[in-house]
Amino acid sequence: MEGNTLKNKIFVIYGDNPREMASHLLSTIKIEDFIDKDALIGIKPNLVVAKPSSSGATTSPELVEGVIRYLKTKGFNNIAVLESSQVGDKTAKAFEICGYTEIAKNLGIPLIDLKKDSYKAYSVEGMELNIFDQVMELDYLINMPVLKGHCQTKITCALKNLKGCIPDQEKRRFHTLGLHKPIAYLNKAVKSDLIIVDGLMGDLNYEIGGNSVKMDRIIAGFDPVLIDSYAADLLGYDPEEIEYIKIAEKIGVGSCLASKEQICELNENHTTQKIPHTREIENLAKYIEEKDACSACYGSLIHALDRLREQGMLDNLREKVAIGQGYKKIEGKGIGVGSCTKGFEKNVPGCPPTAREIIKVLEREIASDL
Ligand code: SF4
Repeated sequence: MEGNTLKNKIFVIYGDNPREMASHLLSTIKIEDFIDKDALIGIKPNLVVAKPSSSGATTSPELVEGVIRYLKTKGFNNIAVLESSQVGDKTAKAFEICGYTEIAKNLGIPLIDLKKDSYKAYSVEGMELNIFDQVMELDYLINMPVLKGHCQTKITCALKNLKGCIPDQEKRRFHTLGLHKPIAYLNKAVKSDLIIVDGLMGDLNYEIGGNSVKMDRIIAGFDPVLIDSYAADLLGYDPEEIEYIKIAEKIGVGSCLASKEQICELNENHTTQKIPHTREIENLAKYIEEKDACSACYGSLIHALDRLREQGMLDNLREKVAIGQGYKKIEGKGIGVGSCTKGFEKNVPGCPPTAREIIKVLEREIASDL
């Protein structure tokens, strides 16, 4: 297949053996034809937290291993895995817990903790963005996100996975900018040359996992907008509902899926089940008053509210909970979550606080109202 024809295609392979699936997929695409032999290849998985891929939060190490082994058999030896976990989490711990330390040792490839890297500012159509140097030095970027839900942006896949290419203070700043626009613009500055989505196990609601659903598929393509529009559809959303997909398409990062003809299923006779659609987060979000909250903070609050829902207590929460950087230096009534809301009457400290810490305060609040 010609390069230009490939650009408009999505490749899907079903199964539960990621190493074999990676090899089948890459040999079908013949990826070796598109990469210079001495290129510095960077693999960017999603290791947002230090939880194994079975949690539905992080990229399968077996899938990454399959990709690296395939590239090595084709003579590519300049390969590194790069990541910067979410605000408040350590990348080195994520590499260890997620099984990457072991595969790196076995395959003789470096793991780069981007949190230790230097960075520079880039101007993208008038928007200034700070991006890690080692990301910008790559010759070929393989973006390997997880297909999963997100508590603020509804879904997270290829476009949002690049948030691991920016420093923590920039991640926080992205939230003050509304998240969607900077995510789209970041993808204009950092090009994903190939996207391989781990659709084996994903949490349909939370980016940090916990309720994983078996989805048994790997999705690949060259256009992050195309991939994300397909991912949104799989998770039950119209791509139009996901703001950053729309913006990325508008600024020329790529194009949304226009026709089913663009989807090439490599093994049609599969027994993989349809992915269930869920909008649980939207119900929990009714209890939140949010202004520019970081995902780690917001995710902790969503988890806390979900636990209270399971215990049958959530209906007794009388007032909305405030959260986010927009509440800094503001004196507010009621409950605020995170150090940004320390001016509130009642506050859960921490940056970000854990779900457990939030639950304790909310349980006390509910009990005092009864
Ligand atoms: S308290 Fe929460 S919203 Fe505020 S900066 Fe920390 S993580 Fe972000």
